[in-house]
Order: sequence, then C-alpha cells, then structure tokens
Amino acid sequence: MTAAIIDGKVVGAKVRAAVAADVAAWVAAGNRQPGLATVLVGDDPASAVYVASKRKACVEAGIADLHQHLPGDSSQEAVVELIQQLAADPAVSGILLQLPVPKQMHGSELTALIPAKKDVDGLTPVSAGLLALGVPGLRPCTPSGVIELLDHHGVQIEGAEAVVVGRSDLVGKPVAQMLLQRSATVTIAHSRTRDLEGVCSRADILVAAVGVPRLLGAGHVKAGAVVIDVGINRTDAGLVGDVDFEAVSAVASLITPVPGGVGPMTIAMLLRNTLIAAELQAQ
Ligand code: NAD
Repeated sequence: MTAAIIDGKVVGAKVRAAVAADVAAWVAAGNRQPGLATVLVGDDPASAVYVASKRKACVEAGIADLHQHLPGDSSQEAVVELIQQLAADPAVSGILLQLPVPKQMHGSELTALIPAKKDVDGLTPVSAGLLALGVPGLRPCTPSGVIELLDHHGVQIEGAEAVVVGRSDLVGKPVAQMLLQRSATVTIAHSRTRDLEGVCSRADILVAAVGVPRLLGAGHVKAGAVVIDVGINRTDAGLVGDVDFEAVSAVASLITPVPGGVGPMTIAMLLRNTLIAAELQAQ
C-alpha cells in the first residue's frame, strides 16, 4: 500500500477561507469585529516570527490585530496588569500569551489569568478542565487541527483504536481527550511505555507528538492505519517529523508530511477559535 497524503496546506487554507467568510457574515449581521490580542514579552526571535505570522493571518481573515509588545525586562506585575486590561476590554475577543516568557516570569501563572472565554490557545487550567469534562469551550489549536484533518478525510474516529505517542499538556493529552470525546478507544504512550512498537501497531489512528526525529517506523504501524505526525524536528537534513515518512508511507493508508501536514493547521484553528471566542462573549 502507498499512503495518500493529508495535505495540511490545502485543509488549513480551506479553514482560513471559511473563517474569513464567517467573520464577514458575523460583522455584516451587526456584531463587533472579532479581535485577537497577541502578547509578546521580550524579543525572542522565534517567538517574534510566530507572533508575526499569527497577526498576518488574523488580518487576512478580517480579525482585528490588537497586538501588545512589552519589553523583555518587564515585571510579572506589568504583564498581569496588561492581561487584566485585555480581559476586561470588549474589543478583545481572544488573548494569546506567546510562550516562553522571559526567565523572571511564570508563564503558567500568567496564562491562567486569561478568562476561559478569551483563551484562544485553549491552554488554561479552566479550558483543560472543560475539555476533560467534555463541556463546550475553546480547545487547543494543534490538537483541533489534528481532528480537523481526520474529519476532512472522512476518517472514522468513533470506535477506532487510537494511539497517541506523547503526553504533553500542549498536544498529547488534549488530542487524546478530543479523540476520546469522539468515542475512539484511546491509548496514550510516552517515554516510559514498554513495547512502543506493540502498542502503536494496534492503532487505526496513530498520532505522534514526541519531538524525536523519525522515532516511529514501519514496524510501529498497522497496515492501512492513518498516521498523523505532529513532530517538528530540525535536523541536518532539514525539518523532519517523528515518523519515518518514507518507510511508513509504504504501510499506512493516509499520512501527514512534515512540513505541510499538521503545521499549517495550528494558525487556521487559532483563527477559528478567535471567532468562537467572539461568539461566546456576545452570548
Ligand atoms: P514535549 O517535549 O512537551 O512532549 C513530548 C512527549 O513525548 C512527552 O510526553 C514524552 O513522554 C514523549 N516521549 C519522549 N520521548 C519518547 C520516546 N522515546 N518514546 C515515546 N514517547 C516519548 O513536546 P510537545 O510540546 O508535545 O511537542 C511534540 C512535538 O510536536 C515536537 O516536535 C514539537 O515541535 C511538535 N509540535 C508541533 C506543533 C505544530 O505542528 N504546530 C505544535 C506543537 C508541537
């Protein structure tokens, strides 16, 4: 079998176009324009690049760019004050604190100040709790992108054996919760899992969110499985995923490439979350 490719650039562009159309309809119906406040503290070059691409995507979707930049030597109190102001500002639908924050600050304490209805990254303890309970709320962007790719390709989630490799709060845990909510039989594997190959090769849907280049090979994948590779690893050979793409393509039925698979979905889902946040606040 040669796996078909799940093209995240195509699916991400469709989501972005759909959000832009929905934002236009929302505003035309007399609602306030959705606005996203990205908060960047300091000048970490990688963070600056990520924030710039989020801002550009916002503007393209008709969402107001309400970016905030604080100097890297700001105090924790200054960031607390800014987040509280943004939380109270009706023009701000969503707040995204770009992590990591400078060393003198506590990123998780600051993130926790973002009200659940403005938590477009879906990473606050309240949002994680809503997800765990299956209560509607804003879901983390990369895991939402994984589900969107599966849905776009008509992959049956209900009843499927799903194995998620990685248990981070950012990707592994929330994607496992989202698959569970869709009635998959979910196993979470991690660095202490015995017989990773045996566990993974049970999967109808295999999601890799590890950060180890080409960790999963053909021996980890059941014939015909759907393989979603969240990993982004910089190597001498360029960007590679957690899955050995060449070897696994010969076994799987559907597979995401790296780059161009899950990566483009994250910002697309952030835009959708910003519109959902605007709707939540209007309720
Ligand atoms: P993390 O380091 O927080 O978590 C990695 C997880 O992998 C841990 O739970 C650990 O137990 C598990 N793990 C480590 N080594 C293992 C091994 N040998 N066998 C099995 N499990 C092992 O990483 P993260 O934030 O979840 O990110 C994972 C990957 O996804 C990274 O490559 C990251 O760059 C990428 N990522 C991509 C996007 C995107 O596409 N937009 C977003 C977030 C993260």
